[in-house]
Amino acid sequence: MKRFALIGNPNSGKTTLFNSLTGSTAHVGNWPGVTVDKKEGIYKKKEEPISIIDLPGIYSLSPYTPEEVISRNYILEEKPDCVINIVDATNLERNLYLTTQLLEMNVPVVIALNMMDIVRKNGDKLNKEMLEKKIGVPVVAISAQKQENIDRLMDVCYNESKKYRSGVSLLNDGPLAHLIKDVKIAFEALNVDNPLFHAIKLIENDEIEAKNHKELLKIVNDFKNTFDDETFGSDLEAIVADARYKYISKNYSIAKEKSEALEKETASDKIDRVLTNKWVGIPIFLVILFAIFHLTFSENFLFLGGLFNNLSPSFEGTMFEGVLWTDAGINSLGVILFNLMDCITSALGDLIGGWLSNAPMWIQSFVSDGLLGGVFSVLSFVPQILLLFLFFSILEDSGYMARVAFILDRIFRKFGLSGRAFMPMIMGFGCSVPAMINTRTLASENERTATVRVIPFFSCGAKLPILTAIAGAIVELFNVGNADIITYSMYLLGMVTAIVTIILMRNTTMKGEVAPFIMELPSYHAPQLKSLMIHLWDKLKHYVKKAFTIILASTIVIWFLSSFSFSYEFLPEVIEYEGEEIVANLRMNESILGGLGNLVSPIFAPLGFGSNLSNFAWVFAVAAVTGLIAKENVIATFGTLAACVSGGYIATEDGVLEVIAMIEATGITIPALIAFIAFNMTTIPCFAAVATAKGELSNKKFKWTLVFWLVTSYLVSMAIFMIGSWWWTSFIFLALALASVFLIRYFNNKASMKGSI
Ligand code: GDP
Ligand code: MG
Repeated sequence: MKRFALIGNPNSGKTTLFNSLTGSTAHVGNWPGVTVDKKEGIYKKKEEPISIIDLPGIYSLSPYTPEEVISRNYILEEKPDCVINIVDATNLERNLYLTTQLLEMNVPVVIALNMMDIVRKNGDKLNKEMLEKKIGVPVVAISAQKQENIDRLMDVCYNESKKYRSGVSLLNDGPLAHLIKDVKIAFEALNVDNPLFHAIKLIENDEIEAKNHKELLKIVNDFKNTFDDETFGSDLEAIVADARYKYISKNYSIAKEKSEALEKETASDKIDRVLTNKWVGIPIFLVILFAIFHLTFSENFLFLGGLFNNLSPSFEGTMFEGVLWTDAGINSLGVILFNLMDCITSALGDLIGGWLSNAPMWIQSFVSDGLLGGVFSVLSFVPQILLLFLFFSILEDSGYMARVAFILDRIFRKFGLSGRAFMPMIMGFGCSVPAMINTRTLASENERTATVRVIPFFSCGAKLPILTAIAGAIVELFNVGNADIITYSMYLLGMVTAIVTIILMRNTTMKGEVAPFIMELPSYHAPQLKSLMIHLWDKLKHYVKKAFTIILASTIVIWFLSSFSFSYEFLPEVIEYEGEEIVANLRMNESILGGLGNLVSPIFAPLGFGSNLSNFAWVFAVAAVTGLIAKENVIATFGTLAACVSGGYIATEDGVLEVIAMIEATGITIPALIAFIAFNMTTIPCFAAVATAKGELSNKKFKWTLVFWLVTSYLVSMAIFMIGSWWWTSFIFLALALASVFLIRYFNNKASMKGSI
């Protein structure tokens, strides 16, 4: 089967084109050894089926990121029959940089000039014929989103794939061209494929090339020395890059004929003047974030209060009440979905409970508490997680996140980070694992280590249930605050902790310069429903799978450990509750889990959720520890334990209330609950994230990273608990902070003075 590979810059529309070419045949896998998505699918509208491969989005074929290496090796080694280079026509010059490198390979190339609908709308014109003549390969103007000219593109590719094309360099005059020719001849003598591409990369001093062709390095130097000393400075990579850009702007800017109307600002520019403004850019970002949290978590939507309630007495007592609104106010979309999900899981629980009412007691307890309790308490959060994820995807797809990286670069720079570090951090809101891998785009080792360490502070999807459930408990038990404001502040707390610890690290153990951050902002796009849905579906599958595997397994273990005592006595018993017989585990304190938990809970006493509590003091410690396997476990553990204690009698009313009843029984305070959230947010992340960090960092740095997470989470939550309980302790923490600032300054000054002598 013929294989066509799609290649292009990020956001050039590859995925959109890929989806419309392959439809439902697409499937996603991983490239060997890395967690970069590999997408393949089949185009069926030609006489023979054609396999389409979506290569990762890249700006160049240098070997700095895994994406670049994957794409480069795919073309060199797997030799696709045609390379479709997708080029964003609204950002022509930046996109063509990659094109100039692709042309150097011996492979048929067709350029898909995408986003032509926007070009037309802007009143721009592109001279396709001239572009084609200058580049020397076919150019097809398309719109991936509007599905214009897609089949024509495939016809052209199909024709090209039957021909042989040998690589050409566009840098074809001057001493550099001379040098390239010489080195290319040396490669040809070795009989390697793609001599031109390898020659140019070797001249650029490319890491991979230098390793594979040590023997030729000397020849390159000899050739270089035949020119006079000033012709090539030391940094040939920069010289080649510069030559490419110069060539592009000289030859292709004429392809763009700006119509007069165009000299005016485009709509994108106008929006950017506000959104990337120095003063309002960040406040706007924070407001957008808050709006997202409000839509997802608020039980008092738009702060309307109980207004709606009074207007509609006829709905009193119907199903709408409670799900859509309560006395406190109207529910936001997220809460409504949560309530619906909860109705479903409670009904299921009741149903299964009913079937089992005649089964032996331990089976009832095992099924409703061990199997269902934990998994259901995790599943009820799925709607809110998906909603939050949807909002973040919209921000990302529309091009807004790139703006935020741009504004934040100005501030990040002062802290010793480049705006580039923002992307992995934002990805951390989804999951730390891909986020940590994404730090490979950061140039300096120390900047990278610091970023990997703070990524878990950007609360991931799995930590969301902790936030929501505990925030819900605070609202319910103490009648204060709004759940959305609590969750929002906890997200902010994570970000602030990240910034503070980065400043600390960059001034002490992780010093270093910040590489310049250059990026062109992609123009704004309306996000596409289809691709959003694909994203969400992937996320949903992943989450549900996790609930029924790792979480389920952990809750079964928890059920076992909490149902049996050290002498293997089965603790749950049948009690009478409001005239009904139910199974409840009132002696859970005597269980194995209780015993183990009591061993560790003193450690958490200074944080407010340890042995200082009156009853079930160990549940928090146990929940935090099980969270190391997967963060959903924290709430799943609560769910299981609460279901065990109460024997499901509260569950028949409302599954979540059960967790709240359990929390109430411990006699915990608000500051301690907040400290508990903060601890889980900033401590050692889940097992998968820890393994990723281990892979990304050197052994020594990894060990210190574990220490860093433990110390940070302990200090942050201790400060929250102490200051929240006794306001005057804030002076102690302030004094400690000031003392460390002075000490760091003192030692840094001393070190720099030594350096200057
Ligand atoms: P990728 O990063 O290269 O995979 O790019 P995507 O396919 O995700 O596209 C990035 C954004 O550009 C999305 O919001 C698309 O909807 C949008 N987009 C892609 N192709 C076109 C097009 O031809 N016209 C317009 N107006 N938008 C497009
Ligand atoms: Mg894509």
